[in-house]
Amino acid sequence: MTEEEKGKLIIREPDREPSSKTTVVKDEEIMRLEAAFCARGDNLMIEGAPSFDGHPGICLEVTDGKTEGLVTLSPIHGDHRKIGADYPPGTVLTLRCPVCHVELDPIAPCSCSPEGMFVALYTVPKRSARHFAGVCRVWGCLRSFIKDSGKIMSEFRVEGGK
Ligand SMILES: [Zn+2]
Ligand SMILES: [Zn+2]
Repeated sequence: MTEEEKGKLIIREPDREPSSKTTVVKDEEIMRLEAAFCARGDNLMIEGAPSFDGHPGICLEVTDGKTEGLVTLSPIHGDHRKIGADYPPGTVLTLRCPVCHVELDPIAPCSCSPEGMFVALYTVPKRSARHFAGVCRVWGCLRSFIKDSGKIMSEFRVEGGK
């Protein structure tokens, strides 16, 4: 890994034009989700949820097994603002769709801790192995990535994490 890759948003140019069917939008160098869905196709950008720089946030139901809450994530990749529930860093959460309450699909282990796991925010309104954003279920873990047409489009990595 090179110096400039450390703790920065890494944009990889797709080989061809991104599919117009998905909701991944690239504003200059900023990757942003225009919609995100649970495996059943509910839009996680619920009406009335907080927005970030004018863009609707991604609303998730979260629980640490004791306290349930709602948290809204910024749709802008690499923007780590969150509004709503708060937990101590390192808390392992269950992330659910706030509409149908189904758990978000685990898709890959995250290297932040033994409990680290990426869950899928689909960018098409169904379960897809090629169109999703991955966010870690460990509170405070900033690792995330966006996959579009099966390719990693954008990735946020943290070096030397905890
Ligand atoms: Zn749902
Ligand atoms: Zn993690």
